[in-house]
Order: sequence, then structure tokens, then C-alpha cells
Amino acid sequence: MPIPVNRPLLGKNELEYVSDCIRSGWISSAGPYLERFEAQWASYCGRSFGVAVSSGTGALQAAVASLGLEPGDEVIVPSFTIISCVTAILDAGAKPVLVDCDEATWCIDPALVAQRIGERTRAIMPVHIYGHPVDLDPLTALASEHGLALVEDAAEAHGAEYLSGREGDASHWMRCGSFGDVSTFSFYANKLVTTGEGGMVLTDDPERAAFLRRHRDLGFGSGRRFEHHELGRNLRMTNLQAALGLAQVERIDEIVARKRSIGAAYNEHLRGIDGLQLPAEKPWARSVYWMYAVVLDDPKFPDAETLGQKLRDVHQIETRPFFLGMHEQPALRALGLFEGERYPVTEKIARRGLYLPSGLALTEDEIAEVCSALRAELGSAR
Ligand SMILES: *Cc1c(COP(=O)(O)O)cnc(C)c1O
Repeated sequence: MPIPVNRPLLGKNELEYVSDCIRSGWISSAGPYLERFEAQWASYCGRSFGVAVSSGTGALQAAVASLGLEPGDEVIVPSFTIISCVTAILDAGAKPVLVDCDEATWCIDPALVAQRIGERTRAIMPVHIYGHPVDLDPLTALASEHGLALVEDAAEAHGAEYLSGREGDASHWMRCGSFGDVSTFSFYANKLVTTGEGGMVLTDDPERAAFLRRHRDLGFGSGRRFEHHELGRNLRMTNLQAALGLAQVERIDEIVARKRSIGAAYNEHLRGIDGLQLPAEKPWARSVYWMYAVVLDDPKFPDAETLGQKLRDVHQIETRPFFLGMHEQPALRALGLFEGERYPVTEKIARRGLYLPSGLALTEDEIAEVCSALRAELGSAR
């Protein structure tokens, strides 16, 4: 049996709650599971309001729309991320400004952000990569110093934690999804919490929450039905999806523990291979290892694509390459964006990084099998 990158683990309550929707007929975006799911996820993340939407991409689009940007305004975003971050900025008529990532965490490098802040900068969008938190304190400080909004993309970091205030004596662990003005999640099938397809926007600001609710629902207001005072989108989540999500959130602790133990098992098996970079866990971070990712940090090893093919063809093990940098995306280059820009860390890991099977249903034996295949292939590359 091939080992896939992801197999979701769905339980008894998932089946029960979804069946309840079908029995009761509440299958659209009206229905009791939506509010419960929104409230529980917001509360888990330490936020006042949750607005469920149809995808993580939609969550980013709505979050950026809630900033009220004007044409020519700039948003700082990592070069190493998914394209949804950039399309959300473009949808708002604003300009994405890229910053390279940190070599160890693969998240936006806070030390490089200050030099990209200019007259037109309005917001910073940190993205937690592969389950490891961004170093947020320096970004929060920059945002408040320059009056910028902070949009946190936590799509890969359900349950991950960040030690805030480590420089002082008031340090405390905070959940990803609780930072800045607005945070977003994806509940796609391979994310830690899934609704099949889905997302959520979190905020503490009641007015922003009200905007987000109108925005996801075609801009319907409280006055005459079908009279619109603002333009919205259809980003609604269904009660069916929320039912699935609620069952998942009820066992989030188990999900996070399982992910962390998969990460620990991989670390144990792969430690000590010279030139193989394993995922970091900084002392100020509790990663959830959304995907267990490695970088072939030595020219003696083949690039990630060659290794990925070997693992698939010889060992029946599925892997995925890393993101490709935003400045190397043909669709974005065609818009005249990022011309002549270089982001060396992003460029390197895009070519030399891949992630291994990481789904919740992965067994200890499968982890051992993946690791011995990897050792065999890397050994023979020497
Ligand atoms: C998955 C993901 C998204 C997009 O979520 P979808 O639900 O697939 O639209 C956005 N940002 C990051 C960082 C992601 O990993």
C-alpha cells in the first residue's frame, strides 16, 4: 500500500453531527452548527468573534477586504507562502511587497521587514509555515510603531503556540490565531482541523466581525432585502461543513498531541543525517508539524524533485515539494510584479525542500518505513 501525504482521521461524532444535519434538513449556511463551530473555534484561539467561510483563501480575501485598503496601498507578505496570500491583497486593489523567510523556521524573517516599510505600507501578513509559529513579537512591535494592521494567516498552525514577551518577565504562551487585528484559518482536508473545504476569520473587533458577516453573504445589510449598500461575495460555509468542524474541534487536543508525536517520531528517526535539515522548533515555539518538512541542505544530495520521484517510484511513498516563491510565479510575473527581485532563502528551499507523509492516520510503522527509505536514498546519493 502506498503511503499518502495525508489521510484524514474522521470519527464517530463527525458522522453523527453530519447525519444530524441531513436528518434535520439544515444543510445550507443557515443552521445551528455554524454558530457553535464559530464560537468554539474563536474561544479556543482566545478570540471574541469567529466568522466561518468557504475556504482559507476566502478567509484571507475577507480579512484583507476588512482593512479598507485603497489602490496603491502596500501589504508586506512572505515570499515563501501559498498564492492565496497574494491574491487576497490583489483582490483588494493593493500591492503585495515581499520579504524573504528565515532559514530555520521558513517563516517571514522579522529582521528584514523594517526595511520594506514605506509611505504606503498599511499592513503586515505573517504566515505560520508548516505548523511552526512566526516570531510575532517583533512584527507586533513594528505594526504598532508604524500604525499598520496585522493579518495573521494561521491556516497551517491550528493549536500551535508562541511564547510572547520572552525578552521581559511577562512572557506567556499564546495560540496562533490570536494575534493582530484579524486572523485566518483554512479547514481544507489536509489541515489539522477539517471541514472538507472551509475557513474562518477571527477578530476581537465587533465592527470588523459585522463587516465580515456581511462580506461573506453578498453584502446583505439589515434594511430592505436585496438592497445592497456594499459589495460582498458568496463565501458562506454550510451547516454540514460546520458540523464536521465542530466534531473536530471537540477533539483538538488529541489532534495536536498526535501531530506533535508524529513530529517527534520523525525527529528521532532522522536526527544525525549530515546535510539534512529537519524542521525547527524554537524555544519560543510549540509547533504542530502540520506537514513534516525537510530541506536537503547539502549539494551532495539531489534536489527535492529527484528525491520525491525516487520515493514515489521505488518506495511508494508520496511527498510534496515546498511552495514556489511568489516572485517566481508566472501568473504574478505576468502582472508585472516582483521584477528583478531575488529572495535567496525562498529560492533555495523551494528547490531543496519536500514534505513527508504527515496525516493523522499515519502509523509508527509507516513513519519508520518512510525514514528508512529516505536514509537509503540519501545514503546512495553520497
Ligand atoms: C491551505 C492554506 C491556505 C488556503 O486555504 P484553502 O482552504 O485551501 O483555500 C491559505 N494559507 C495557507 C498558509 C495555507 O496553507
